[in-house]
Amino acid sequence: MSLPTPGSPSLSERLDAVRERVAEAATTAGRVGDDITIIVVTKFHPASLIRELAALGVHDIGENRHQEAQAKAAELADVELNWHFVGQVQGKKARQVRSYANVIHSVDRPALVDALVSTEHEVACFLQVNLTDDTGRGGVDPAGVEPLAERVLAAPGLRLLGLMAVAPLGAEARRSFAQVRELGERVRMLAPEATSLSMGMSQDFPDAIAEGATHLRIGTAITGNRPAER
Ligand SMILES: *Cc1c(COP(=O)(O)O)cnc(C)c1O
Repeated sequence: MSLPTPGSPSLSERLDAVRERVAEAATTAGRVGDDITIIVVTKFHPASLIRELAALGVHDIGENRHQEAQAKAAELADVELNWHFVGQVQGKKARQVRSYANVIHSVDRPALVDALVSTEHEVACFLQVNLTDDTGRGGVDPAGVEPLAERVLAAPGLRLLGLMAVAPLGAEARRSFAQVRELGERVRMLAPEATSLSMGMSQDFPDAIAEGATHLRIGTAITGNRPAER
């Protein structure tokens, strides 16, 4: 257990504060807070932090690097957790990621869909949309969303939940999230069940809730600052 330094809030206090802010933003948006899943992103933090979170009732955990996620999932096999993979997936690691991840938030290209096809268990996924002009960022560009959705719908072993995005730096978050919501409506014409939207992080989750986010990916607001990148 990490002891809080005097005056700084503990993990459970930060978690409670975020839960309250989520409930408030949901009420403001005329929504029910229960249809919003808070995924706690624990990258760079040790597995022991995830155990603490589980003891506080958190079962949705997000990771963005395959090796780290795989090691933690193995170490925490005794804990009831849903693993959300939120980082870029390399094609050659796709099969390994699907072996421990319950949900993959970052499906962004046809070749990755093909690499994730399986006749074994189904894995849930989001299509990640790139809202920047930088093609090096993860995500399919908005024009490619519908064809990619069709490819996932035709792929055995994948279940499409909806869209995921990160609000670009410098852009107004609320407008970015509105754009994702509109794209999501188009996906829903192809796949009526694909109603979920994974958007909203520590700095912008109230805006995401206002635009219909169903899955928030929150790191530092709950975990505190991340240990330095290794
Ligand atoms: C790290 C990360 C988050 C959480 O970011 P915070 O700003 O710490 O809340 C959310 N989504 C993705 C894809 C991430 O990599």
